[in-house]
Amino acid sequence: MADQLLLRDYVPRSRLRVPVHLVDRPRYPVFDAHNHLGSVFAGDWPARPVEDLVAVLDESGVERVVDMDGGWGEHLRAEIARHVGPYPDRFVIFAGLDYEGWSHDERFGETEAARLRDSVAAGAAGVKAWKLLGLRARDPRGRLVAVDDPRLDALWATAGELGIPVAIHVADPVAFFDPLDRFNERWEELHAHPDWHFHPTRPSEQAEAPGFPPFDEIMQQLEHVLARHPGTTFVGAHVGCAAEDLGWVARMLETHPNFNVDIAARIGELGRQPYGARDFFLRYQDRIVFGTDVPADVRSYRLHYRFLETRDEYFSYDLGEVPGQGRWMIYGLGLPDDVLRKVYRDNAYRLILRS
Ligand SMILES: [Zn+2]
Repeated sequence: MADQLLLRDYVPRSRLRVPVHLVDRPRYPVFDAHNHLGSVFAGDWPARPVEDLVAVLDESGVERVVDMDGGWGEHLRAEIARHVGPYPDRFVIFAGLDYEGWSHDERFGETEAARLRDSVAAGAAGVKAWKLLGLRARDPRGRLVAVDDPRLDALWATAGELGIPVAIHVADPVAFFDPLDRFNERWEELHAHPDWHFHPTRPSEQAEAPGFPPFDEIMQQLEHVLARHPGTTFVGAHVGCAAEDLGWVARMLETHPNFNVDIAARIGELGRQPYGARDFFLRYQDRIVFGTDVPADVRSYRLHYRFLETRDEYFSYDLGEVPGQGRWMIYGLGLPDDVLRKVYRDNAYRLILRS
């Protein structure tokens, strides 16, 4: 029928005529504080020579990258040898956690703490906690491990003692916790990735286990951890795990001086609330670090620069024909130079390399 069209076939093209300012080089050299070089999130980079990656970074104006995929043990040592070995000034490797191992280790918190000491001795500069914490990782009795599970206190405290930051990603976009119906703003994305749907009524893997906790509960758990470990520096991935609610993130930043955020994979969220986002950047300019979370690519980096540096209106936040996180466009923030410099590099040097 001529008056019906499938959503997936709908690809409207904006007829706006507005100024376009493409930004080839960032105003200041960039420290990408959230990327992946050694996992499925790294695209084809693990199979390509590191010098090709460095060439892309050079062309993009990126001077340093955090690789969240260090893991531990042999994998960590290999990841460090591959990247930091030949390019000590270009790469920083974060260790990871063995979520799977928690299900058969009564003392998993102590195990992680001890392993973190080894990882840092081997050259890891931080540790990454991933959303499996709070959503999927289970203890030996089969119970979900909450983000604020006291058994993990040893790990968070050890990170503080070692003086390394914890990059923490819990929960996910809030719509991933909503019913998957016609009101869900991430409908297409969740249909493409059904395993990202965490609505509480959707049973988790184990039949007898309870469903996923609600979004707000996970966020409260995160706040408990921030409050219990004031001596540990946390960087909340993806705008503090709550890019849709900058008011909540602002309250966390005000209440917990040990909390900071990266902007990885969230220019789509920030850019659809440009007035609030710009105020947020100005107010918390010392607490925000740049990150992309997408396989290193000149076009992706340039899109981020356009978002942060220009006041361009109504452009896509990714490179696809239809933007992947939801059907909306973004607006540039036109940040002042001093703020750009902090967000692009200075904050990350201070928080991650303590320089
Ligand atoms: Zn990531």
